[in-house]
Amino acid sequence: MWEKMSYEEILECAVDPYPSIREWKKRTGKRVLGTTFADVPEEVIWAFDILPTTIMGTTKPLKKAQALLPDNACSLARSNLELVLSYETDLFDGFVLPQVCDTTQHLSDIWRLNVKGKYFESYLAPRQTDRESAKYWVRKEIERLIDSLSAFTGKRIDESDLKRSVDLHNENKRLLKEIYDFKRNNPSSLSNRVFFSLVKLSQQVAKDELNETIRRVKESLKDGTKDGYIDVILAGITCEPMEIYDLFDEIKLNVVADNLLIGSRYLAGEVDPGEDLLDRLAARHFKRGFFSPIHGNVFGEFEELRRLYRENGAKAIIYIHIEFCESQEYDLPDLKKMMKREGIPMHVVETEYQTTSLSHLRTRLQAFFESIKGT
Ligand code: SF4
Repeated sequence: MWEKMSYEEILECAVDPYPSIREWKKRTGKRVLGTTFADVPEEVIWAFDILPTTIMGTTKPLKKAQALLPDNACSLARSNLELVLSYETDLFDGFVLPQVCDTTQHLSDIWRLNVKGKYFESYLAPRQTDRESAKYWVRKEIERLIDSLSAFTGKRIDESDLKRSVDLHNENKRLLKEIYDFKRNNPSSLSNRVFFSLVKLSQQVAKDELNETIRRVKESLKDGTKDGYIDVILAGITCEPMEIYDLFDEIKLNVVADNLLIGSRYLAGEVDPGEDLLDRLAARHFKRGFFSPIHGNVFGEFEELRRLYRENGAKAIIYIHIEFCESQEYDLPDLKKMMKREGIPMHVVETEYQTTSLSHLRTRLQAFFESIKGT
C-alpha cells in the first residue's frame, strides 16, 4: 500500500493518512499509538511492533473540541483533540503524549478525561537542555516508556529489536535528506508539496513500506533547473494545510532549508552509531534544531534562521504562524525586530488548521515576493 505510491497518492495520503492506517491495522493485526509533537522516540514504539503515528490535526470541522478547550488554545491542539473525539475514535489503541508547552500540558489532561478505555503514557522532555542532568533525564524517560510499553503489550524488547527499528528509521531520514539535497538544486524536478508530504507521512505511516516509495521517488529524479525560482527558508512548527506548499510551487519559491518539526528538525533525529543504543537515542534529543517550548535560549531561533538564510544564500524567510500558538506568540515580536535589524526579509503567514481558503495568503505572498524581486 504505502510502498508503491504515485505522486498523486502521496499528496492525498499526506492530507488524510487515516483510511490507509486503518487498512494497515486490519491487514497486519497490529496496534497503532498516536503521539503529538514533539520528540517521542518513535523507534521505541515501533520496536514493540506498534505503529507510532504523529497526530497532526484535521481540516474537518470542529464539533466537540471548542467546548473543552479555552478559546485561545492553539488551532493545532483544537484540531488534534477533535480528530480523536469525532473522526478517529477507534483507530488508536492508545496515546503517548508529550508535554511541551502549557497548552499540551492541559490538553493531555483533557484528552485522558475524554477518551476512555485506551492506553495512555506521557513523555516529558527536559526544557533546560544545556544542563548536564538533561541527558540523564532523557534516558530515564526512554527507559520509563519501554517499561510502560512492556506492561501494555506483555512483551519485552531486546537490543536487536531496538537496533532494527533504529536502522529502519535512520534509513528513512537518510533517504529524505538525499532527496532534499537534490531538490534544493533542482526545484523544477520535485515540488515542495511532494517533498514535504513525504516528510509528513514519514511521521505517520509504516516506514518499512514507505521507504520503498521514497527510494523509488529518489531513483526517478531527473536533473532540473533553478531558473526563475526564489530560494527561501521556511520557519515555524508545521506548515498546514498542505495546500500552502502549492502556493509556494505556483509562485516558484524553492524551500532550500527549514526548521519545521515536519521538516529538518525531524530529519536531524537520525541516531548516531556507537555502543550504547539507549544513550544514543537520548543523545539525539540534543542535536535536533531549535523548538521554542523546549529550549531555553531565547535567541536560539533567530540565530538558527539567520545561519540558514546566510549559508543557503536565500532571498527571504517565510514564517508559518499557527493561530494562538503561545510559544510563537512569545517569539515572533522579537524575531521580527531582529530580522529587520539584520536586513533579512521575513514574511509571516498566519495559518489555522481548519483553513480551507488560501486566496488571501496567495495575494500577500505574491505581493511580498514582487517587492523582493524589485530589491
Ligand atoms: S507549541 Fe504551539 S502549536 Fe504546539 S501545542 Fe503548543 S501552543 Fe500549540
